Amino acid sequence: METILELKDIRKSYGQKEVLKGISLEVKKGEIISVLGPSGCGKSTLLNIIAGMLDINTGKVLLNGVEVTTPKKIVPIEKRDLNMVFQDFALWPHMSAKENVIYGLKLKKTDPKIIEDKLEKMVELLHLQGLMDQYPSELSGGQQQRVAIARALIMSPSIVLLDEPLCNLDVQLRIEMRTEMAQIFRQLKTTVFHVTHDPSEAFAMADRIVIMDRGVIDQIATPQECYLRPKSKVVAGLLGAGDHIKCKVQRHEKDSVDVIVGDDVLECLSFCKGDDVEVFFRAEDCHFSKTAVENSFKIQVIMPTFEGSAYRIKARSFTGEEVTFLNDSELKTDTVGYLQVPKDKLYAYDALSD
Ligand code: ADP
Ligand code: MG
Repeated sequence: METILELKDIRKSYGQKEVLKGISLEVKKGEIISVLGPSGCGKSTLLNIIAGMLDINTGKVLLNGVEVTTPKKIVPIEKRDLNMVFQDFALWPHMSAKENVIYGLKLKKTDPKIIEDKLEKMVELLHLQGLMDQYPSELSGGQQQRVAIARALIMSPSIVLLDEPLCNLDVQLRIEMRTEMAQIFRQLKTTVFHVTHDPSEAFAMADRIVIMDRGVIDQIATPQECYLRPKSKVVAGLLGAGDHIKCKVQRHEKDSVDVIVGDDVLECLSFCKGDDVEVFFRAEDCHFSKTAVENSFKIQVIMPTFEGSAYRIKARSFTGEEVTFLNDSELKTDTVGYLQVPKDKLYAYDALSD
């Protein structure tokens, strides 16, 4: 498969502060890549480098096999075969929706007939019927977002860059738009480089997720692989594994370890080398039982909280660590029982790793 975008060992500092610490990756034609990472980890910096709006300290960016950014050279954004959709949509307020969408084509002196044809396709694809004469201030957030996407897609760029495209929309609209965007990009076979701090947005959109933390890439894999086999504590935490307990390893196998929690032993997936580990898991993967069952450890309930579809139960292990799990029914404070977690939902990392 043809490579559209290639990043080779990108490093970027703002003054003394190194924000990107050697980022390398390839984006193939038609692929949707989501860079997922906490706020401040360097996502926008990376995106702006790809767009040609920021310089770099070392490394290079290749677009369609051509070097567009090196420490000595920056091809400006307007000369790159890419388009960007910004967090705040960045529509021109003094232009109608139509003028915004066709601006780029007019600038390229495209035949007016072709412009009309392309515009019609975009209006249909993004459900913009009846909105083209409105000004951005007369459009809702969701409508502005559609106009911004139409403005990018009408140029048929090699790659579309999206910086947290949904974070200014309310929750319901966000869920609808992420599905719709993924559908449109797939239909048009658009190559997409998308950055977000929201795991569900990355899951819904991406063919591959790039998990970034403090300027380095922790994992590149399909959403399913990242979710089921998070390679580091940071990835596990980011993808919902909010529970973690410190344990000693009793036995190492090839891909799994047995760890000791008080009087109990748990078999876990191994991402560790040493004997002092931290085991991560998700509240929704826990099953409470009154007696000891396979792969369970003893706990005592601290407090239940009703959440509608389930109770979120805060509890303490007999090694003194707080854990949270979901349960269909209420469990009273001080209830003693066992928490079972399937071995493939328990992730063991070296205690001292990130
Ligand atoms: P993200 O998009 O993942 O939230 P950013 O790329 O915006 O992260 O920022 C990464 C880090 O770089 C942050 O700590 C931020 O404060 C810092 N930073 C971003 N832009 C600048 C700048 N122009 N000058 C100095 N520091 C910056
Ligand atoms: Mg950002």
